[in-house]
Amino acid sequence: MSEDVKHDAPATGRHFLKQWIAEDVATGRTGGTVVTRFPPEPNGYIHIGHAKAVCIDFGMAAEFGGRCNLRMDDTNPAKESDEYADSIKEDIHWLGFDWGDGFYNASDLFDRMYEIAKKLIERGHAYVCDLSQDEWKLYRGIPTEPGRESPGRRRSAADNLELFQRMRAGEFKDGEKCLRARIDMASPNLHMRDPVLYRIMHVPHYHAGDKWCVYPMYDFAHSIEDASEGVTHSMCTLEFEVHRPLYDWVVDRLDELDMLVVRNGVRIRPQQREFARLNLSYTVMSKRKLLQLVEEKRVDGWDDPRMPTICGLRRRGYTPQAVRDFCERIGVSKFESQTDVALLEYCLRDDLNLHATRRMAVFNPLKVVVDNYPQQGGLSAELPDNPTDAKAGLRRVPFEREIFIERDDFMEEPVKKFFRMTPGAEVRLRGACIFRCTHAVRDEHGEIVEVHGTYDPESGGGNAADGRKIKGTIHWVPASCALRIEVRLYDRLFNVPDPLDDPERDFVEFLNPDSLKSVTALGEPALAEARPGDKFQFERVGYFCVDTRDSQPGALVFNRTVTLRDSWARKS
Ligand code: ATP
Ligand code: MG
Repeated sequence: MSEDVKHDAPATGRHFLKQWIAEDVATGRTGGTVVTRFPPEPNGYIHIGHAKAVCIDFGMAAEFGGRCNLRMDDTNPAKESDEYADSIKEDIHWLGFDWGDGFYNASDLFDRMYEIAKKLIERGHAYVCDLSQDEWKLYRGIPTEPGRESPGRRRSAADNLELFQRMRAGEFKDGEKCLRARIDMASPNLHMRDPVLYRIMHVPHYHAGDKWCVYPMYDFAHSIEDASEGVTHSMCTLEFEVHRPLYDWVVDRLDELDMLVVRNGVRIRPQQREFARLNLSYTVMSKRKLLQLVEEKRVDGWDDPRMPTICGLRRRGYTPQAVRDFCERIGVSKFESQTDVALLEYCLRDDLNLHATRRMAVFNPLKVVVDNYPQQGGLSAELPDNPTDAKAGLRRVPFEREIFIERDDFMEEPVKKFFRMTPGAEVRLRGACIFRCTHAVRDEHGEIVEVHGTYDPESGGGNAADGRKIKGTIHWVPASCALRIEVRLYDRLFNVPDPLDDPERDFVEFLNPDSLKSVTALGEPALAEARPGDKFQFERVGYFCVDTRDSQPGALVFNRTVTLRDSWARKS
């Protein structure tokens, strides 16, 4: 099943999928339009791994001037719901992609699939099998030896058709019978040893209601969905590579039944190719595992800001641009590997640096009293909302006799190269003035409770009138009008790069107990105007956004999106 593919996939170069499509366009196989699809199963929220597939599916269609359908692959009724389907649409739109009028539900084709199955039986391509699941596995055998035939294989087409109709009529219990393709019980590919096409499930479907008690299997359904929509290029993850011969087998049957879409005189035979899925460090990506975290309340829902789901990333403060940039940088290849989450965070900082509004906030406050500053001082710092954006405005931060600085920015006995606040030395209070600390005041336990000093009245804006150099600049907030804000400091959800690596241990054992710390911080007054979803850089600290779920007017909650630098890399 291996094929000649180019493994080098530079972000902007022609990766193997692009080459493949370009060739088909050149030879006219697409009938003039490249059609791709993104086919999520609506059984969970989509995550950053799906974003990779979304970017490839929609990206390739856009690149070749074609279109990409959104299809709910809802052939397994047990775990699907409208809640999930709606969230998937919202998330794809948020990522910046649109399917136009190309929205489909696989379940809308149930009648058609059933009719196709009957035609396959009539033509001897399928039969009803009465083996139990265990027998079926036993009969299928191992790759190096041919399997054994199911007794149903030799039944007449008429008898098989009658049995299949009775299956559909609900005469049998789950698992009692199934419909199988008649292909090759000696194939070295076990998927070709008369694979199951239909199974009995007495479960209502979230769209089709209780109309069906037989449901098509993925491989059968997917090829029919692709063919019916006139999809030319069907891209999926590597685990489907071994299924490709079966995909092609079903397409051949549709061709035989004259059921392929014809576009501009070209019969559209959909083709499948596979790429490596995205694995990201310090998280898990299987919907089943993510659902477990939600159900066991180990996180606060699918949109918990620590989740790798798109809604979690959005609530955390990620931007669609950052996610798309990341997907572009990881490229497309056929190699399974793990991508370092630091790359995703890098893309995020890159984008937030350009767009996030700057504000000052103090997390561990230490009071500073400016002894020579008049009670009604009138000084204020005028600071750019965003120095990287020429069009961004300025905001004023009133300077006061009492301000708060970060406790870490003061050292009574400074270590070498400490250029922040320390007795006797000058430091710049960001945008306001130059300040010289005189002394610290301690309480009865010896704890420093406040720091005193004087400011240079000739240093408006923080620059000395005589041009003398000031090495350190620290941020501050005015004591009387600082805003108390709740800040949630998020960290990685897991302690280890691959929580699924140890088969002996349950992945939840590797959850990071410190992945969420809630603190109260003091922010500059302008933060009072922040709205849910707004993104900020708290200067010298990191990027934060206003939580869209838990913020109340007058009681804002901020999520830490990402630290300013890669603090994780420095820790380890
Ligand atoms: P899970 O792994 O959680 O079971 P899934 O692959 O079954 O997810 P689907 O809804 O079937 O989820 O996925 C829709 C599409 O997204 C498929 O084409 C699938 O190949 C692709 N996809 C899913 N996970 C990833 C991933 N980690 N990286 C890239 N593509 C992915
Ligand atoms: Mg799947």
